[in-house]
Amino acid sequence: MSTDPVALTAALIRCPSVTPEEGGALLLMERVLTEAGFACTRVDRNGIANLFARWGNGGNGQSFGFNGHTDVVPPGEGWSHDPFCGEVIGAEIWGRGATDMKSGVAAFVAAAVDFVQETPPDGSIVITLTGDEEGDGVDGTTAILDWMEAEGERMDVCLVGEPTCPERLGDMMKIGRRGSMSAFLTAKGVQGHSAYPHRAKNPLTGLVRLLDRLASHALDTGTDHFDASTLAITTVDTGNKATNVIPAEARATVNIRFNDTHSSQSLTDWIRQEADRVTEETGITFELRTKVSGEAFLTPPGPLSDLVARAVEAETGITPALSTTGGTSDARFVRRHCPVVEFGLVGKTMHQRDERVEVAQITGLKAIYTRILRDYFA
Ligand SMILES: [Zn+2]
Repeated sequence: MSTDPVALTAALIRCPSVTPEEGGALLLMERVLTEAGFACTRVDRNGIANLFARWGNGGNGQSFGFNGHTDVVPPGEGWSHDPFCGEVIGAEIWGRGATDMKSGVAAFVAAAVDFVQETPPDGSIVITLTGDEEGDGVDGTTAILDWMEAEGERMDVCLVGEPTCPERLGDMMKIGRRGSMSAFLTAKGVQGHSAYPHRAKNPLTGLVRLLDRLASHALDTGTDHFDASTLAITTVDTGNKATNVIPAEARATVNIRFNDTHSSQSLTDWIRQEADRVTEETGITFELRTKVSGEAFLTPPGPLSDLVARAVEAETGITPALSTTGGTSDARFVRRHCPVVEFGLVGKTMHQRDERVEVAQITGLKAIYTRILRDYFA
């Protein structure tokens, strides 16, 4: 009897697994996978629940990997239905995680479970599920990959089942992601009376000059597979309520989304250089702190992207665009382990209230994942 990915999605949605709560979601997946003959290991770290599952002996043959997350963002207010109801209403299934990405997890788990029972492959299928993708991700997929390395476990290729399609199931897959980092700048001057500016040193003068230079500089013009990198000033603060005081300190943050012509280090070096130039000109000094969410990466078009694209075309009649747009995902961690691409359903309502998706997309996605497994092990 085939596994219904819609029923599995509903069961997952009913697990209130808001990051970092496990919520019963990984326990459910562990039970389903164990019953199908997968060897399951919980790889929890620092209070975050993660699951590693392997079918096959892992030693011989090819190993195909799926990666996904069962945690969800908080539902927020104002839903038309209970955000954890998992109910099918009309043609859609409702609830937090319906698109991002309990449906994707349900689709690849259902595909893998049926595939190993109906046509046992000469090789392994590895499923890695984390309860910490929507959080910092420090103890999520990274923890599983660290554990796999220590245990000699491997995937030869990996498919991440995040939603990737903008309009119709099949219209886009991701072969890389831009990097993301924030730079926190603190400009330091000398406080004083605004009527006697020569006795003070205004940090805002230097900060504004620096921000203008950073924001007006074209980082690059894009590459074959990436859009141009962008820098956005996201806040400027002094906390100064007085109109007659020059503050001693001013702070600003910029967020940079960058392609693979840069690294977080090269961008940090560039910001430092520009800050030093402004210090020479104005005497205002700058402290610089950065937070890196992920480096840019690309899995160049090749056997893995061809495999996925062919399966998508066969099931939907649509040729998926190979894209690197959007935010970061756990593919940024997986790429250190093996070639990785991402393909999933249409993510229009992800992170919104009234998150929902057509059930036809979930069954369609399972069919695509099944075909990918069949072609990979053929
Ligand atoms: Zn997601």
